[in-house]
Amino acid sequence: MTKSQLQGEARLAAVRRQFSEHFTMEEFEENSHDFTNCMPADCIPMFEEFCAKILEPIRELLGKPVQITSAYRCPRLNTVVGGVPDSFHVATPLQCAVDFVVPGMTVQAAFDRIRLRSYLAIDKVIHEKRAGKEWLHVQWRRGLPPRRVALIFDNGTWFKTEYRVMAPPVANKELWGEA
Ligand SMILES: [Zn+2]
Repeated sequence: MTKSQLQGEARLAAVRRQFSEHFTMEEFEENSHDFTNCMPADCIPMFEEFCAKILEPIRELLGKPVQITSAYRCPRLNTVVGGVPDSFHVATPLQCAVDFVVPGMTVQAAFDRIRLRSYLAIDKVIHEKRAGKEWLHVQWRRGLPPRRVALIFDNGTWFKTEYRVMAPPVANKELWGEA
């Protein structure tokens, strides 16, 4: 086996790494451009904690699978897609962001459920609307008090909206049923 084949094998093992029950490292590194987008190894524990504390609970809260559209971005990818230089998508061991949609649910409904009916320690949730497309951006800071900010970005204009903090769902199961 050649050296590059061996590296390929190692890479294959790495991309199948499971961050949590429903999310893999591969989804976080997805990239449609012709260069690799590999997260630094020191970010992996942070992403695993993010999945456990934020993404899995969001999936449970919405009652549907979450489809990630953009997660980790190396600096090159962030530049190519027009991200701001200090984007949370360019993760550090202490912060990250994911963009996602929820098949079978409008972005508005998912946004409202997260910002009005969740107890989650989200830093910011943003309903982004750009050029006819829309998605949710959720960012998180590890080990810091969550700011729990809800924003709408509508084709260049920012609006702040309400983020209502709920008690943990175990005691409030009936409150986060269907809207
Ligand atoms: Zn984003």
